[in-house]
Amino acid sequence: MKKTITVLIVISFLLLCSCQKTAKKTFFALDTVVEIKTYGEMPDGAEEYVKELEKVFSKTDTKSELYLQNEKEESTPSKLLYGLIKRSLDISADTKGAFDITSGALTGLWDEAAEKGALPDAESINACKENCGYEKVRTENGSVYKPKDLKFDLGAVAKGYIAELTVKKLQSLGVSSGFASFGGSIAVIGDKPDGSGYKIGVRSPDGDGVIGYTVIRHGIVSTSGDYERYFEYGGKRYHHIIDTATGMPSQSGVRSCTVISDDGTVSDALSTALFVNPSLLDELYGKYDFEAVLITENKTVITTANAEFVITAKDYSPADR
Ligand code: AMP
Ligand code: MG
Repeated sequence: MKKTITVLIVISFLLLCSCQKTAKKTFFALDTVVEIKTYGEMPDGAEEYVKELEKVFSKTDTKSELYLQNEKEESTPSKLLYGLIKRSLDISADTKGAFDITSGALTGLWDEAAEKGALPDAESINACKENCGYEKVRTENGSVYKPKDLKFDLGAVAKGYIAELTVKKLQSLGVSSGFASFGGSIAVIGDKPDGSGYKIGVRSPDGDGVIGYTVIRHGIVSTSGDYERYFEYGGKRYHHIIDTATGMPSQSGVRSCTVISDDGTVSDALSTALFVNPSLLDELYGKYDFEAVLITENKTVITTANAEFVITAKDYSPADR
Protein backbone atom coordinates (compact mmCIF):
# COMPACT_ATOMS: atom_id res chain seq x y z
CA MET A 1 0.00 0.00 0.00
CA LYS A 2 1.36 3.40 -0.93
CA LYS A 3 0.04 6.60 0.55
CA THR A 4 0.76 10.20 -0.30
CA ILE A 5 -0.60 13.21 1.53
CA THR A 6 0.04 16.90 1.40
CA VAL A 7 2.18 17.97 4.33
CA LEU A 8 1.67 21.71 4.22
CA ILE A 9 -1.53 23.66 3.90
CA VAL A 10 -2.25 27.28 3.30
CA ILE A 11 -4.82 28.24 5.88
CA SER A 12 -7.56 30.74 5.10
CA PHE A 13 -6.58 31.91 1.62
CA LEU A 14 -9.85 33.72 1.20
CA LEU A 15 -10.45 35.00 4.73
CA LEU A 16 -10.14 38.75 5.24
CA CYS A 17 -9.92 39.32 1.50
CA SER A 18 -13.32 38.26 0.26
CA CYS A 19 -13.63 41.58 -1.57
CA GLN A 20 -10.75 40.73 -3.91
CA LYS A 21 -11.15 38.52 -6.97
CA THR A 22 -9.14 35.31 -6.72
CA ALA A 23 -8.22 32.66 -9.29
CA LYS A 24 -7.18 29.05 -8.87
CA LYS A 25 -5.55 26.42 -11.08
CA THR A 26 -5.04 22.78 -10.08
CA PHE A 27 -3.26 20.13 -12.12
CA PHE A 28 -1.11 17.04 -11.71
CA ALA A 29 2.63 17.33 -12.33
CA LEU A 30 5.84 16.03 -10.78
CA ASP A 31 3.95 13.18 -9.16
CA THR A 32 1.86 15.55 -7.05
CA VAL A 33 -1.13 17.86 -7.18
CA VAL A 34 0.02 21.35 -8.09
CA GLU A 35 -2.19 24.20 -6.90
CA ILE A 36 -1.69 27.81 -7.96
CA LYS A 37 -3.82 30.55 -6.44
CA THR A 38 -3.63 34.22 -7.23
CA TYR A 39 -5.35 37.39 -6.16
CA GLY A 40 -6.53 38.95 -9.41
CA GLU A 41 -6.44 37.17 -12.78
CA MET A 42 -4.57 33.91 -13.33
CA PRO A 43 -2.15 34.61 -16.19
CA ASP A 44 -1.97 32.18 -19.12
CA GLY A 45 1.00 29.86 -19.29
CA ALA A 46 1.58 28.89 -15.65
CA GLU A 47 0.67 25.23 -16.11
CA GLU A 48 2.62 25.00 -19.38
CA TYR A 49 5.66 26.46 -17.63
CA VAL A 50 5.53 23.82 -14.87
CA LYS A 51 5.09 21.05 -17.47
CA GLU A 52 8.20 22.29 -19.31
CA LEU A 53 10.17 22.07 -16.06
CA GLU A 54 8.74 18.62 -15.43
CA LYS A 55 10.22 17.47 -18.78
CA VAL A 56 13.66 18.37 -17.39
CA PHE A 57 13.44 17.15 -13.80
CA SER A 58 10.92 14.30 -13.67
CA LYS A 59 12.27 11.17 -12.06
CA THR A 60 9.52 8.90 -13.42
CA ASP A 61 9.06 10.16 -17.01
CA THR A 62 11.36 7.94 -19.10
CA LYS A 63 11.73 10.79 -21.62
CA SER A 64 12.75 13.48 -19.10
CA GLU A 65 16.19 14.99 -19.45
CA LEU A 66 17.12 13.73 -15.99
CA TYR A 67 16.01 10.18 -16.80
CA LEU A 68 18.01 10.06 -20.05
CA GLN A 69 21.04 11.65 -18.44
CA ASN A 70 21.00 9.05 -15.66
CA GLU A 71 21.82 6.37 -18.25
CA LYS A 72 25.11 8.03 -19.16
CA GLU A 73 28.53 8.19 -17.54
CA GLU A 74 29.37 11.51 -19.19
CA SER A 75 26.85 14.14 -20.19
CA THR A 76 26.47 17.84 -20.88
CA PRO A 77 22.98 18.66 -19.55
CA SER A 78 20.93 21.79 -20.10
CA LYS A 79 21.96 24.78 -17.98
CA LEU A 80 18.90 24.28 -15.80
CA LEU A 81 19.67 20.64 -15.00
CA TYR A 82 23.40 21.20 -14.65
CA GLY A 83 22.77 24.10 -12.28
CA LEU A 84 20.53 22.10 -9.96
CA ILE A 85 22.83 19.05 -10.00
CA LYS A 86 25.89 21.15 -9.18
CA ARG A 87 24.18 23.06 -6.39
CA SER A 88 22.65 19.86 -4.97
CA LEU A 89 26.04 18.12 -4.95
CA ASP A 90 27.41 20.99 -2.84
CA ILE A 91 24.50 20.69 -0.42
CA SER A 92 24.94 16.90 -0.36
CA ALA A 93 28.54 17.46 0.77
CA ASP A 94 27.54 20.14 3.32
CA THR A 95 24.93 17.80 4.80
CA LYS A 96 27.45 14.92 4.88
CA GLY A 97 25.15 12.90 2.65
CA ALA A 98 22.02 13.19 4.82
CA PHE A 99 20.60 14.77 1.67
CA ASP A 100 22.27 13.02 -1.25
CA ILE A 101 21.06 13.41 -4.83
CA THR A 102 23.10 10.38 -5.86
CA SER A 103 20.85 8.06 -3.85
CA GLY A 104 18.77 7.05 -6.91
CA ALA A 105 19.69 3.35 -6.77
CA LEU A 106 18.54 3.11 -3.14
CA THR A 107 15.43 5.26 -3.50
CA GLY A 108 14.51 3.24 -6.61
CA LEU A 109 14.84 0.02 -4.61
CA TRP A 110 12.54 1.40 -1.89
CA ASP A 111 10.06 2.71 -4.49
CA GLU A 112 9.88 -0.84 -5.88
CA ALA A 113 9.42 -2.20 -2.36
CA ALA A 114 6.52 0.20 -1.82
CA GLU A 115 4.93 -0.94 -5.10
CA LYS A 116 5.25 -4.61 -4.13
CA GLY A 117 4.45 -4.05 -0.45
CA ALA A 118 7.50 -6.14 0.54
CA LEU A 119 10.89 -5.26 2.03
CA PRO A 120 14.10 -5.37 -0.03
CA ASP A 121 16.70 -7.92 1.17
CA ALA A 122 19.96 -6.86 2.81
CA GLU A 123 22.02 -7.95 -0.20
CA SER A 124 20.07 -5.68 -2.56
CA ILE A 125 20.31 -2.79 -0.10
CA ASN A 126 24.08 -3.19 0.16
CA ALA A 127 24.48 -3.48 -3.62
CA CYS A 128 22.49 -0.24 -4.09
CA LYS A 129 24.48 1.55 -1.38
CA GLU A 130 27.59 0.84 -3.44
CA ASN A 131 26.05 2.83 -6.30
CA CYS A 132 25.42 5.96 -4.20
CA GLY A 133 27.76 8.73 -3.07
CA TYR A 134 27.98 12.40 -4.04
CA GLU A 135 31.79 12.23 -3.83
CA LYS A 136 31.83 9.85 -6.83
CA VAL A 137 30.51 12.58 -9.18
CA ARG A 138 32.61 15.24 -10.92
CA THR A 139 31.27 18.36 -12.60
CA GLU A 140 33.36 20.50 -14.92
CA ASN A 141 32.52 23.26 -17.40
CA GLY A 142 28.91 22.21 -17.77
CA SER A 143 29.60 18.47 -17.99
CA VAL A 144 28.80 15.76 -15.45
CA TYR A 145 30.91 12.62 -14.95
CA LYS A 146 29.56 9.75 -12.84
CA PRO A 147 29.71 5.95 -12.55
CA LYS A 148 27.16 4.37 -14.90
CA ASP A 149 25.08 2.74 -12.15
CA LEU A 150 24.98 5.84 -9.98
CA LYS A 151 21.58 7.49 -10.49
CA PHE A 152 20.55 11.01 -9.56
CA ASP A 153 17.26 11.42 -7.71
CA LEU A 154 16.25 15.08 -7.52
CA GLY A 155 12.96 14.23 -5.76
CA ALA A 156 14.10 15.85 -2.52
CA VAL A 157 15.00 19.18 -4.11
CA ALA A 158 13.28 19.72 -7.47
CA LYS A 159 9.85 20.74 -6.17
CA GLY A 160 11.27 23.49 -3.98
CA TYR A 161 13.36 24.77 -6.88
CA ILE A 162 10.43 24.57 -9.29
CA ALA A 163 8.11 26.29 -6.76
CA GLU A 164 10.60 29.18 -6.63
CA LEU A 165 10.89 29.35 -10.44
CA THR A 166 7.09 29.21 -10.79
CA VAL A 167 6.41 32.18 -8.53
CA LYS A 168 9.14 34.15 -10.31
CA LYS A 169 7.39 33.33 -13.58
CA LEU A 170 4.01 34.37 -12.15
CA GLN A 171 5.51 37.65 -10.94
CA SER A 172 6.94 38.31 -14.39
CA LEU A 173 3.41 37.77 -15.74
CA GLY A 174 2.04 40.45 -13.41
CA VAL A 175 0.92 38.49 -10.33
CA SER A 176 1.66 40.40 -7.12
CA SER A 177 -0.03 38.13 -4.58
CA GLY A 178 -0.70 34.41 -4.42
CA PHE A 179 1.04 31.09 -3.96
CA ALA A 180 2.09 27.92 -5.77
CA SER A 181 1.86 24.64 -3.89
CA PHE A 182 3.71 21.48 -4.95
CA GLY A 183 2.79 18.98 -2.23
CA GLY A 184 5.69 19.34 0.18
CA SER A 185 6.78 22.80 -1.04
CA ILE A 186 4.78 26.02 -1.13
CA ALA A 187 6.12 29.31 -2.54
CA VAL A 188 4.32 32.56 -1.78
CA ILE A 189 4.25 35.84 -3.66
CA GLY A 190 4.12 39.02 -1.60
CA ASP A 191 1.51 39.98 0.97
CA LYS A 192 -2.19 39.42 0.56
CA PRO A 193 -4.02 42.52 -0.67
CA ASP A 194 -5.01 43.36 2.93
CA GLY A 195 -1.33 43.46 3.90
CA SER A 196 -1.31 40.23 5.90
CA GLY A 197 1.02 37.31 5.18
CA TYR A 198 0.18 33.71 4.30
CA LYS A 199 -0.55 31.41 7.20
CA ILE A 200 1.06 28.03 6.48
CA GLY A 201 0.07 25.08 8.64
CA VAL A 202 2.28 22.06 9.31
CA ARG A 203 0.19 18.92 9.43
CA SER A 204 0.14 16.59 12.39
CA PRO A 205 2.13 13.40 11.65
CA ASP A 206 -0.74 11.42 13.19
CA GLY A 207 -3.79 12.81 11.49
CA ASP A 208 -5.49 15.58 9.61
CA GLY A 209 -5.04 18.44 12.07
CA VAL A 210 -2.11 20.84 12.26
CA ILE A 211 0.65 21.07 14.86
CA GLY A 212 0.85 24.80 14.33
CA TYR A 213 1.49 27.46 11.77
CA THR A 214 3.86 30.13 10.60
CA VAL A 215 3.08 33.29 8.64
CA ILE A 216 5.21 34.14 5.64
CA ARG A 217 5.22 37.01 3.15
CA HIS A 218 7.84 35.72 0.74
CA GLY A 219 9.90 32.62 0.15
CA ILE A 220 9.40 28.89 0.01
CA VAL A 221 8.28 26.52 2.76
CA SER A 222 9.21 22.84 2.34
CA THR A 223 8.30 19.93 4.58
CA SER A 224 9.62 16.38 4.68
CA GLY A 225 7.52 13.99 6.76
CA ASP A 226 7.40 10.27 7.49
CA TYR A 227 3.63 10.33 6.93
CA GLU A 228 3.94 11.90 3.49
CA ARG A 229 4.50 8.67 1.57
CA TYR A 230 4.87 5.21 3.09
CA PHE A 231 3.86 1.56 2.99
CA GLU A 232 3.18 -0.92 5.77
CA TYR A 233 4.75 -4.34 6.15
CA GLY A 234 4.49 -6.72 9.14
CA GLY A 235 2.68 -4.03 11.11
CA LYS A 236 5.51 -1.53 10.62
CA ARG A 237 5.63 1.62 8.52
CA TYR A 238 8.36 2.22 5.95
CA HIS A 239 8.51 5.78 4.67
CA HIS A 240 10.20 7.24 1.61
CA ILE A 241 13.15 9.23 3.01
CA ILE A 242 16.24 7.07 3.06
CA ASP A 243 19.28 7.34 5.29
CA THR A 244 22.05 6.54 2.83
CA ALA A 245 24.32 5.50 5.73
CA THR A 246 22.04 2.55 6.60
CA GLY A 247 20.18 2.15 3.31
CA MET A 248 16.93 2.12 5.31
CA PRO A 249 14.14 4.68 5.85
CA SER A 250 15.67 7.15 8.29
CA GLN A 251 14.88 6.83 11.99
CA SER A 252 16.23 10.00 13.53
CA GLY A 253 13.36 10.67 15.90
CA VAL A 254 12.09 13.48 13.64
CA ARG A 255 8.61 12.97 12.20
CA SER A 256 8.59 16.09 10.08
CA CYS A 257 10.95 18.89 9.21
CA THR A 258 9.84 22.20 7.72
CA VAL A 259 12.35 24.65 6.28
CA ILE A 260 11.57 28.22 5.24
CA SER A 261 13.92 30.08 2.91
CA ASP A 262 13.91 32.53 0.02
CA ASP A 263 15.86 29.88 -1.85
CA GLY A 264 13.68 26.91 -2.89
CA THR A 265 16.69 24.66 -3.42
CA VAL A 266 17.77 25.31 0.17
CA SER A 267 14.29 24.88 1.69
CA ASP A 268 13.63 21.56 -0.02
CA ALA A 269 17.12 20.04 0.25
CA LEU A 270 17.55 21.01 3.90
CA SER A 271 14.08 19.79 4.89
CA THR A 272 15.19 16.34 3.75
CA ALA A 273 18.69 16.64 5.24
CA LEU A 274 17.46 17.72 8.69
CA PHE A 275 14.75 15.07 8.69
CA VAL A 276 17.51 12.46 8.25
CA ASN A 277 20.10 14.10 10.51
CA PRO A 278 18.73 16.79 12.86
CA SER A 279 22.08 17.05 14.64
CA LEU A 280 23.27 19.13 11.64
CA LEU A 281 20.81 21.92 12.50
CA ASP A 282 23.17 24.40 14.18
CA GLU A 283 26.00 23.83 11.69
CA LEU A 284 23.70 24.33 8.69
CA TYR A 285 21.97 27.32 10.32
CA GLY A 286 25.36 29.02 10.44
CA LYS A 287 25.98 28.32 6.78
CA TYR A 288 22.62 28.80 4.99
CA ASP A 289 19.87 31.40 5.23
CA PHE A 290 16.78 29.57 6.53
CA GLU A 291 14.50 28.92 9.49
CA ALA A 292 13.34 25.45 10.52
CA VAL A 293 10.65 23.69 12.53
CA LEU A 294 11.20 20.05 13.49
CA ILE A 295 8.42 17.91 14.94
CA THR A 296 9.82 15.02 16.97
CA GLU A 297 8.36 11.62 17.88
CA ASN A 298 8.39 12.81 21.52
CA LYS A 299 5.84 15.47 20.55
CA THR A 300 8.29 18.32 20.94
CA VAL A 301 8.88 21.12 18.45
CA ILE A 302 12.43 22.28 17.72
CA THR A 303 12.63 25.72 16.10
CA THR A 304 15.48 27.92 14.91
CA ALA A 305 15.92 31.38 16.46
CA ASN A 306 13.64 33.36 14.12
CA ALA A 307 11.19 30.70 12.97
CA GLU A 308 8.07 32.33 14.51
CA PHE A 309 6.13 29.08 14.63
CA VAL A 310 2.93 29.06 16.69
CA ILE A 311 2.12 25.66 18.24
CA THR A 312 -1.64 25.04 18.31
CA ALA A 313 -1.78 21.28 19.04
CA LYS A 314 -2.34 20.86 22.78
CA ASP A 315 -0.20 17.74 23.15
CA TYR A 316 2.94 19.32 21.58
CA SER A 317 5.40 21.61 23.35
CA PRO A 318 8.61 23.48 22.49
CA ALA A 319 11.76 21.39 22.87
CA ASP A 320 14.39 22.35 25.47
CA ARG A 321 17.53 23.27 23.56
P1 AMP B 1 11.38 15.16 0.41
O1 AMP B 1 9.93 14.83 0.56
O2 AMP B 1 11.69 16.50 -0.14
O3 AMP B 1 12.15 14.88 1.66
O4 AMP B 1 11.95 14.17 -0.71
C1 AMP B 1 11.80 12.79 -0.63
C2 AMP B 1 12.17 12.16 -1.96
O5 AMP B 1 13.56 12.38 -2.23
C3 AMP B 1 11.98 10.65 -1.94
O6 AMP B 1 10.72 10.28 -2.48
C4 AMP B 1 13.14 10.16 -2.80
O7 AMP B 1 12.81 10.25 -4.18
C5 AMP B 1 14.23 11.18 -2.53
N1 AMP B 1 15.07 10.85 -1.35
C6 AMP B 1 14.82 9.97 -0.34
N2 AMP B 1 15.79 10.00 0.58
C7 AMP B 1 16.69 10.93 0.14
C8 AMP B 1 17.93 11.42 0.67
N3 AMP B 1 18.44 11.00 1.82
N4 AMP B 1 18.58 12.37 -0.07
C9 AMP B 1 18.09 12.82 -1.24
N5 AMP B 1 16.94 12.38 -1.77
C10 AMP B 1 16.24 11.46 -1.10
MG1 MG C 1 13.11 17.95 0.39
